[in-house]
Amino acid sequence: MFQQSSQHVDSYYAHSCADILRDRVVLEGEHDADVVVIGAGFSGLHTALRLALAGKRVIVLEASRVAWAASGRNGGQAILGWSCDMPPLEAALGYERARRLWDGMRWAADELRELPGRHGFDCDYRHGHLWTSVMPRRVSLLTEWQHEASHKWGHDALQFIPREQLSDWVATDRYQAGLYDPEGAHLNPLKLALGLAAAIERAGGRIQEQSKALSYQEQGGGFRVNTERGSVRADVLVLACNAYLDELDPQLSSCILPVGTYQVATAPLTAEQASALLPRNVCVTDNQFVLDYFRRTPDNRLLFGGGCTYLGGMPKDIAAATRPFLERVFPQLQGVGIEFAWGGHIDLTINRTPDVGGEGNRYWLQGYSGHGVLPTLAAARAVSHAILGDSDELALYQGLSNGRFPGGKHFAAPLEAIGKAWYRLRDSI
Ligand SMILES: Cc1cc2nc3c(=O)[nH]c(=O)nc-3n(C[C@H](O)[C@H](O)[C@H](O)COP(=O)(O)OP(=O)(O)OC[C@H]3O[C@@H](n4cnc5c(N)ncnc54)[C@H](O)[C@@H]3O)c2cc1C
Repeated sequence: MFQQSSQHVDSYYAHSCADILRDRVVLEGEHDADVVVIGAGFSGLHTALRLALAGKRVIVLEASRVAWAASGRNGGQAILGWSCDMPPLEAALGYERARRLWDGMRWAADELRELPGRHGFDCDYRHGHLWTSVMPRRVSLLTEWQHEASHKWGHDALQFIPREQLSDWVATDRYQAGLYDPEGAHLNPLKLALGLAAAIERAGGRIQEQSKALSYQEQGGGFRVNTERGSVRADVLVLACNAYLDELDPQLSSCILPVGTYQVATAPLTAEQASALLPRNVCVTDNQFVLDYFRRTPDNRLLFGGGCTYLGGMPKDIAAATRPFLERVFPQLQGVGIEFAWGGHIDLTINRTPDVGGEGNRYWLQGYSGHGVLPTLAAARAVSHAILGDSDELALYQGLSNGRFPGGKHFAAPLEAIGKAWYRLRDSI
């Protein structure tokens, strides 16, 4: 559906990783592996690393470059939870099983903190996430979640920040209150992906770039995956293609609606300006339906995003489309230079629950619905455990049913757009 280019988009992340980006070779000829993973985003990389460390012979096929898509372009906010929040998970699984999923999310937050040190890379990891409320009537959502997180899910570290204390956290009048989560974090996602890729290779795994999987078929109790110049035969197949799965597996991809979303990075501010905006260097997300999110970078830029498009492409001028939202939060940045503006695609499911599962020796991870930095890691643990013989955790994910979009993607996109316009209207009253 989307044209994949052979190089990373011109983002702040590609710019910040210029000295650590390196090409990986194209798959040529026939190869054999225990596991073939298609897609080198967080889903594929986390899964491949866990399997390579467990002694499996793993080959990762990537159509473009490592973290070419959402994993190398996102807001870098590692927020606990899923896009759908907990109610649909509890409704589908019951309390005990939903609690086990949530515990997997807490594990993912801890694991993400440990990974850079364990594998010897830096990804500008910084702890601390702040939810904020723009509207007085939605402050109760923050306090309700604080109560539920503590009493129901065992997450009692959340701290309510009343309006009069918010200036210690973020220099804007826009918010009525905040909820601080010290277990949330922010990081440079492309640095994280490149660190994971290097760790996979050190563990004996292989990553083949510019090697798009064109088709696969069952063969000899496993699968053969075909690329333009080669093929891999493996016992186990993992599909981790996110919004780009398309014709490789039409049935799985019919559960996903690709949605465009975009963000900007300002020119570097002075250290004083940057720390005045976000004195505690947390990342921030508001709780509007159509939300703003932002954070500081180590070189004192503001990264700001939130816009979405449902009908395929991106705005012609992402910087111009984003500037009014940035200046609404931070009027003091009026006219600030915007140095990078880029977008990517998220993989929306019909009820925003993740679509992670397995059938025989074929596994898939997708459907994070725009919230995947931590969920990809939690899902990769479930899938890698299942491949290694313990499918208990994966069975939790398989208890979440994600149907196809009615009328197919072409009909669903305009419907979603209308739905979002309605939510935008609700945000404004
Ligand atoms: C602009 C933006 C901002 C976001 N901000 C946040 C945020 O702040 N916090 C958060 O939690 N989440 C955020 N997300 C969502 C998050 O980035 C994703 O949920 C997550 O990265 C998904 O990872 P993935 O590995 O499943 O998919 P991807 O990162 O999209 O990776 C899929 C990979 O598969 C490859 N591929 C596809 N088809 C083939 C094929 N046939 N053969 C070989 N390779 C193939 C692609 O080239 C790609 O590299 C954001 C997403 C976007 C786009």
